[in-house]
Amino acid sequence: MQSSLEPVFEQVLRRNPGETEFHQAVREVFDSLGPVLTKNPQYADAAVLQRICEPERQIIFRVPWVDDSGHVQINRGFRVEFNSALGPYKGGLRFHPSVYLGIIKFLGFEQIFKNSLTGMPIGGGKGGSDFDPRGKSDREIMVFCQSFMTELYRHIGEYTDVPAGDIGVGGREIGYLFGQYKRITNRYESGVLTGKGISWGGSLVRTEATGFGTVFFAQHMLETVNGGFEGKRVVVSGSGNVAIYAMQKAQQLGGHVVACSDSSGYVVDEAGIDVELVRQVKEVERARISEYAERRPSATFVPGGRVWEVGAQVALPCATQNELDEGDARSLIASGLVAVAEGANMPTTPKAIQLLQEAGILFGPGKAANAGGVATSALEMQQNASRDAWSFEHTEERLARIMSDIHDRCATTAETYGQPGNYVAGANIAGFTKVADAMLALGVI
Ligand code: GLU
Repeated sequence: MQSSLEPVFEQVLRRNPGETEFHQAVREVFDSLGPVLTKNPQYADAAVLQRICEPERQIIFRVPWVDDSGHVQINRGFRVEFNSALGPYKGGLRFHPSVYLGIIKFLGFEQIFKNSLTGMPIGGGKGGSDFDPRGKSDREIMVFCQSFMTELYRHIGEYTDVPAGDIGVGGREIGYLFGQYKRITNRYESGVLTGKGISWGGSLVRTEATGFGTVFFAQHMLETVNGGFEGKRVVVSGSGNVAIYAMQKAQQLGGHVVACSDSSGYVVDEAGIDVELVRQVKEVERARISEYAERRPSATFVPGGRVWEVGAQVALPCATQNELDEGDARSLIASGLVAVAEGANMPTTPKAIQLLQEAGILFGPGKAANAGGVATSALEMQQNASRDAWSFEHTEERLARIMSDIHDRCATTAETYGQPGNYVAGANIAGFTKVADAMLALGVI
């Protein structure tokens, strides 16, 4: 980190004690910004860095609900409205027991730069709850979502803040959240949430977008060296929405996907993962990934194992933060790794990123590689604003173009700042400068 940035980072540590994931996300961006500040002293003069690290607004609220046995449960809800220089706050909601303010801040901070990179008019925000959806009945999910929205509705709006899904929040939850928003406000305000169902204002391709986009990004990286997915061995972590559609698109492009995982372990299937079966087990039945191996003779379930030990030429971490560490990076490199593209947010630890880059592995950071999800949310907002609905082909074509533009923006920026091939630097610098310039233009606010 450039020495002029150190006091700013120290202040972030002091102001946000114990929020280690947020510190990690800030450090990663700061590590890239030295050359930008040297070239553009106006950013330091206007304290842009100090301002960008302090959310515009942070909301923490009580979420009371009654479980199926009649007991009152209390969870904590969050919405961090981080930066609105480029547009309304935009970012998902995560329901997971690990959620606390530091997780939401790291995600919201990353979202600012990711959303900027998409080229769409969206600011950055994130929210969620420490609610654990696992094992909850459909009724419990519904009443939780209704209680959550009963507080959240007053803070959001199509011109203000537009939440969507993330871990633990998919189409079902967005439905319950939208229903409650509509009931409280008496407005059919489609643009207030994205990831909606197709018959009530959703966009085709939004479900597939994060996974598809990650693979499009990886394909562009691979094309800069040797070809593409065709014939490559691919390992994916996770088995949720991002992982499923990353696997599907990797297979469509000729990749040989041999493994995926969940928090209980991984499945390896040398015959090639049957993506439809993963979807059935995980999304429809909401069961564990071991169930896949039960039904598929060519597959083995490895309980508690780390999916990266399977070995791959292309690794797509699509599960959660800090799931690919130094040891994983070493074993992947030894197995002939060519590229990593992050479908999840911050899945690779800083030491692992360093190792991968030193070994000359193509590395696409989440801010760039998984931006297809939120970019397609912005396309959903466009369709809502114009009361229109686009075809699958047209929307996928838009997504493909956006991912190609993001790739080129990162590559060109990295080159301009003397670090060719460094997509981390390219994404951080390109994402930052657009927001910083807008903040300068808008005055000290
Ligand atoms: N949660 C997703 C992300 O990390 C999508 C957010 C959105 O669509 O607003 O980018």
